[in-house]
Amino acid sequence: HSKVTGKGRITHYDAELNNAREHQLRIENDIRDGLLRNEFDVWYQPIVDARSLATIGVEALVRWPRRPAGALPPDQFIGIAETSGLIYALGQFVLRRACQDLLPLSDLKLSVNISPAQFRDPEFENKVAGVITGSGFPAHRLQLEVTETYVLENPERARAAITNLKGLGTAVALDDFGTGYSSIGYLRRFNFDTIKIDKSLAGLIDTDEQAAALVGGTIRIASALGMAVTAEGIENEKQMKLLRLAGCDQLQGYWFSEPMPIEDLRSLRQQHG
Ligand code: C2E
Ligand code: MG
Ligand code: MG
Ligand code: MG
Repeated sequence: HSKVTGKGRITHYDAELNNAREHQLRIENDIRDGLLRNEFDVWYQPIVDARSLATIGVEALVRWPRRPAGALPPDQFIGIAETSGLIYALGQFVLRRACQDLLPLSDLKLSVNISPAQFRDPEFENKVAGVITGSGFPAHRLQLEVTETYVLENPERARAAITNLKGLGTAVALDDFGTGYSSIGYLRRFNFDTIKIDKSLAGLIDTDEQAAALVGGTIRIASALGMAVTAEGIENEKQMKLLRLAGCDQLQGYWFSEPMPIEDLRSLRQQHG
């Protein structure tokens, strides 16, 4: 009796696994084709200075509008690009395109997301240096966003990569702070320029006292360590006000602007003179 149940379970499990594998393979092929057919775009979300509320930079976010089987958000393909190794080509495309696009908008900084797999590549810093040289984009306007996954997995390599990137003149940010195991204690061991508080934490500042206390503590400690703090996912005025009061340095979220194509960013900047 239990044998039947067991078998049934295994069959069901196998079927799900096969489906997941098929799904993964299909997306993987789509990414490979998409890179060849130029189906990816890079959009930009403004980051504002918390005091002046002036836009001081943008975060580059990959978009896939021309996928024949339908657009997919990055959360649904970045992971597959990572496990398949396609993230190297995709990441290089995003970095190169973003540096080209932002080059003429010379008063804006550029922040680019880097996957753990890219950061793990011992050639990564050289590739970044190559893009900087090739595009003429000033290294000091560039910031790379890394997540704690990578940093926790290989602290020694992470420390070396951060040091090398800073040697190029590029800033390094810790993205998605507050979502995982990132503790304030280990921040001290790495030389991040900026800590980005994830929207799942920063976005609670107006409704959840504990979250608000955590955000406040993070900002105080980060500033004691000489790191700037960017809060993500600001969707209303109250959140904005509370984060300004808490001493946050930079703000990002739909309240200010959603991510937009480069053409829209350009015309926005023209209006500002
Ligand atoms: P992330 O780096 O934390 O980027 C912020 C995400 O929050 C973006 O989602 C952005 O559109 C969204 N967002 C910004 N403001 C708000 C807000 O006020 N409310 C809400 N609900 N969301 C907001 P997106 O573009 O879908 O990207 C999701 C994640 O995918 C990114 O999270 C990042 O981890 C990854 N990603 C995106 N582009 C790239 C890329 O070029 N390379 C790599 N490696 N990862 C990328
Ligand atoms: Mg990011
Ligand atoms: Mg983030
Ligand atoms: Mg995130």
